[in-house]
Amino acid sequence: MTPRVVFITGAASGIGRATARLLAAAENDLVLMDLQGDGLCELADELSLSDGVTVVSIGGDVSDEADMDQAVHAVTSNWGRLDAVVVNAGINGVWAPIDDLTPEEWDRTIRINLRGTYLTINRTVPLLKKSGGGAIVVVASINGVRTFTNPGATAYSASKAAQVAMVQQLALELARHGIRINVVCPGAIDTNIAASSQIRHREQTEIPVVWPDGSVPITGGEPGRAEDVARIIGFLLSDASAHMTGSPIFVDGGQGLLR
Ligand code: NAD
Repeated sequence: MTPRVVFITGAASGIGRATARLLAAAENDLVLMDLQGDGLCELADELSLSDGVTVVSIGGDVSDEADMDQAVHAVTSNWGRLDAVVVNAGINGVWAPIDDLTPEEWDRTIRINLRGTYLTINRTVPLLKKSGGGAIVVVASINGVRTFTNPGATAYSASKAAQVAMVQQLALELARHGIRINVVCPGAIDTNIAASSQIRHREQTEIPVVWPDGSVPITGGEPGRAEDVARIIGFLLSDASAHMTGSPIFVDGGQGLLR
């Protein structure tokens, strides 16, 4: 496989980290971005040991223009080209009844999950065009499509639904440039994302459900692993998915089908 240059956000942990490992093993060069600069450097050191793989890490906030420009500059100064982008950084934010959710809490979730997605794509598309095309994968959630799963997750679900809509719109816009864009919608995955959550008044947002909390049909209840999602991201970046664009792909073990 010809080494490709791939930009991954939220790469220090969970799905982003598993994706970075998978793509480094397939000899892709990587630019990794995350707020957690330390975790990122550690990962970059580990992956740089792979034969023939160059890994650059950038500590920064995906919703901050200057940080994003710094990351894009790292791509241009090291390679002058870009082939693929994984738009993965995200937070759960505050899950609470709508009348208890503050404007600041709403804004923070939308800023990181949605403005971050916009900025990542806005700043990397010119490089993909210059490279003659490429592939983008956005990591949304089953919450973006099947919002009954987590009551109280209003801002999170809105940001994830908007990501799905953006991808479908952009698939049309970017096709003429040879750029494919798809979106994965994971269900419950065992990562550190719970650390980015604050759930208030759970009792007020709980709705009656007919399946045990966290149930996942294909595993009998266990959440999926970050690697389960990374493999699908790898597929969507590869030529094996050459005829796919604008597609939402569920990676949820059937979780979203239950209600
Ligand atoms: P995680 O918390 O393990 O990883 C998320 C990474 O994003 C962290 O390293 C974090 O530091 C980084 N990040 C957060 N805000 C950032 C910012 N402003 N700028 C740069 N980096 C930032 O969680 P994860 O589960 O691997 O989450 C990855 C994506 O998967 C998220 O978009 C999340 O919404 C989505 N997702 C996760 C699950 C799940 O159950 N874990 C389910 C559906 C969707």
